Amino acid sequence: MPLDEFAIIDRFFRRPSRRDDVRVGIGDDAAVLQVPAAAELVVALDTLVEGVHFPEQTDPFAIGWKALAVNLSDLAAMGAEPAWFTLALTLPEADAAWLAEFSRGLFTLAEEWNLALVGGDTTRGPLTLSIQVAGHVPPGEALLRRGARTGDGLYVTGTLGDAAAALRDWQAGRAEDPALRGRLDRPAPRLRTGMGLRGLARCAIDISDGLLADLARLLAASPGNGARLEREALPVSAALRRRLAAEPALWAGVLDGGDDYELLFCAPPEREADLSALAARTGETITRIGTITAEPGIVLEDADGRRQTVTPHGYAHFAPPQEERP
Ligand code: ADP
Ligand code: MG
Repeated sequence: MPLDEFAIIDRFFRRPSRRDDVRVGIGDDAAVLQVPAAAELVVALDTLVEGVHFPEQTDPFAIGWKALAVNLSDLAAMGAEPAWFTLALTLPEADAAWLAEFSRGLFTLAEEWNLALVGGDTTRGPLTLSIQVAGHVPPGEALLRRGARTGDGLYVTGTLGDAAAALRDWQAGRAEDPALRGRLDRPAPRLRTGMGLRGLARCAIDISDGLLADLARLLAASPGNGARLEREALPVSAALRRRLAAEPALWAGVLDGGDDYELLFCAPPEREADLSALAARTGETITRIGTITAEPGIVLEDADGRRQTVTPHGYAHFAPPQEERP
């Protein structure tokens, strides 16, 4: 029997929710959600387009996981607790096997965080997934991009450059390291760290377009500041470190590669012990990678103390040609 859009929703996306704050979910004209009293609502939306955000023929489980993960990463960067999401699904065809794996990937991550899918839209067209996620923070406690001050430490969660290395291997048709590929396909949103950084970090962003590009955004939000990064301090996974010795070109992915979905944040240096305690509590590593400085721009310092000013080359959908960039 062919799947019409209502059958698709019923079969793959209507799930009983364990949340008691969903008054009305899938099936009405809109969802009705009970927002906690005295909380601020935090919403984000991200779209994945086949061929742009993931290669054609990507495993549908990974697409489902990642479509939600990239949105949760945005909520993590705000220090928010996620609660609900909606899904706009544009499909070239109703392929039951594809949908089953996509929804399994989506709900595996959703259930890990007790999130409810409360509505969406289903249309035909080139494969595109949009998810809007909503959550909440105590009033005034959301972490923002602005807020960096000279002398603050600059920190990242996890490791950098794994997803970029996996993408390079895939593009070159090389044998893939599952440890790297897993980081490209199934990023782990750093929600525990994000929530733990409330009242601790002074500014935060998630790294989706590369460390340097997202650092530049963080700095742009606090004009008059720059950053000094220590190359030796940049956290790199064991899997990537094995590769860097033979292929130093992979360093570009550590600095400029997209899809890390780690948090980048600044905090006063005297909070270092609190950051260590947070990392111990969450099991998510936090590494100091540099310092906020009074000189605008980003300076990269090598192990031997040599310093060079660097400019981001992260991914931009509508970037002007290189020479026109400021
Ligand atoms: P309407 O025409 O009122 O917008 P739709 O026919 O688009 O309603 O959707 C019917 C119901 O199914 C709505 O509650 C909508 O939120 C939900 N829905 C549609 N597509 C999806 C989807 N991909 N995932 C989850 N819920 C969906
Ligand atoms: Mg609709």
